[in-house]
Amino acid sequence: MKKGITAFIALASVSMSLSAYAGQCNKDAIKLQVLGSGGPELYDNRASSGYIIWHNEKARILVDTGPGTSVNFGKVGADYKDLEAILLTHLHVDHSADLPAYVKGAVFTDRIQDLALYGPSGNEIMPATKDFVTRLFGKEGVYPYLSDYLIPYARNYAIEVNQVDINKNSVQTFQLNDEVKLSAIAVEHGPLPAAAWRVDIEGCAITFSGDMSAKRPNLIALAKGSDILVAHHAIPQAAKGRPATALHMIPEQIGHIAKQAGVKQLVLSHRMSPSVGKEQNTLKVIKQQYSGDVRFAEDLDTFDIQ
Ligand SMILES: [Zn+2]
Repeated sequence: MKKGITAFIALASVSMSLSAYAGQCNKDAIKLQVLGSGGPELYDNRASSGYIIWHNEKARILVDTGPGTSVNFGKVGADYKDLEAILLTHLHVDHSADLPAYVKGAVFTDRIQDLALYGPSGNEIMPATKDFVTRLFGKEGVYPYLSDYLIPYARNYAIEVNQVDINKNSVQTFQLNDEVKLSAIAVEHGPLPAAAWRVDIEGCAITFSGDMSAKRPNLIALAKGSDILVAHHAIPQAAKGRPATALHMIPEQIGHIAKQAGVKQLVLSHRMSPSVGKEQNTLKVIKQQYSGDVRFAEDLDTFDIQ
């Protein structure tokens, strides 16, 4: 009983502090742009997972680096030297494979600031983000010619890796700088270490579910009061009770989370062949619980804060 009360108080204080950040949102300053609205499929004509948070027309935060997003990063006019952090929700190929493309591509930019990279800790089936980066760019890694980017001052900038502990169920915060607060919480994506991310900037909050099932109820606390929740919508309502729900949320679970978190706008992304074409039904199911604005993401879409 006592433990339950303590847990409730802790959760309430997290929610209050996150909501407080969302209090005085400077709506004109912040935009969300979708670099990739797809999953890992080859023939979906979509880039895989990737999002930019624009602040005063600068690309400040990149969430996920799925295949194709680095091309779209250039297409939308994002400047690599403006990026302050890359947040990875997990390390599946459709969320991380373009990371080497960004790191190598930066050689041809005038970036001089170090770049903070955030991702989940590891487990027995997936390396921790620090190990992932070392296995890619370390001297013994896949691309040893890029190893200088892990050494401070060796090149024009260096990558600093920070990790979210996926064994904790509480919100973990990282104060990126005076203007940007990053928060993450572990979510369930089958056996994969995975995190959902929230970015608080200029009083506005945008939360990214990443890929997740509804098994761990953590996302509600993280997304509380967000201006936008980007929820990954890989499977339709008809998948209810099927094995795919161990990896992804069905629409009724997305609607429940959006309502409980009190988010102002819902953007559905990571759209895949099982869910594409079922938008009407998805919308109907979500609307049974959530009354806010719901949008289906396409590559390069931009979303304003409402
Ligand atoms: Zn995915």
